Amino acid sequence: MTTAHAPTTATAPVQQRAAAIEAVLEERGFKAAAAIEQGIHMAEEVWLPQRGARVVAKAWVDDAFRQRLLNNGRDAVAELGIELPRHHRHLVALENTATVHNVICCTLCSCTAFTVIGLPPDWYKDLDYRARVVRESRTVLREMGLHLPPDMHVRVWDTTADTRYMVLPHRPAHTAGWGEEQLAAIVTKDAMIGVARLEPPYSPAA
Ligand code: FE
Repeated sequence: MTTAHAPTTATAPVQQRAAAIEAVLEERGFKAAAAIEQGIHMAEEVWLPQRGARVVAKAWVDDAFRQRLLNNGRDAVAELGIELPRHHRHLVALENTATVHNVICCTLCSCTAFTVIGLPPDWYKDLDYRARVVRESRTVLREMGLHLPPDMHVRVWDTTADTRYMVLPHRPAHTAGWGEEQLAAIVTKDAMIGVARLEPPYSPAA
C-alpha cells in the first residue's frame, strides 16, 4: 500500500541553498564568508588530534597533571593553551587501564571535544556506529579491528551538548623512558575516541 503525500515543491541543490543563506546573512551585516573561512582554517590547522596527543603524553609523564586532567579536563587542557567552546562546559577524561576500556559516541548526532581530539571521523557520525556501539560495543569494536578479551570491562559514554569526553589511552609498557614528544607521536584520534588501543597485543610495539 502506498501512502499519499501532499505534493512538495522541488528543493534547490544544496549549494544553491547554502549560497542563498549566505547572501541573506551578508545582507543583514553578518560576515558569513569570513566566518566560513575562519571555520575551515580552525578545522584544518588548529583543531587537530595532535593537540589531544600532547595532553595524553603529558598525563603519561606527569602524574600531578594526569590527576588534574581526571578531576577537571577543561582546566587541565587550558594549561596547554587548549580552549573549548563555552558550551562545552565539561571535558571528562576517561582513563583506560589494562582491564578497563572506554569508548565514546554521540547517539544523537556527532558531538566530540573537537578542539582537543579533532573533528569527528565520518564513521562516528554514522547512524550504524551511534546506534550499535551502545548496544553491542564489543562487536562494533571488533569490526573496527579492536579485539578485546572477554574480561576487559567496556564502558560506553554518550556525549551531550555540554559534556564532552576524551579517552586517556593506556600507556604501552615499551614506551618507558620516552619523552613527551615521542609519546605524543603514537597517540591517535581513534585511541582518544576509544576504538583503538595503543599497546600490544592491540597495536604493534612502535
Ligand atoms: Fe552530537
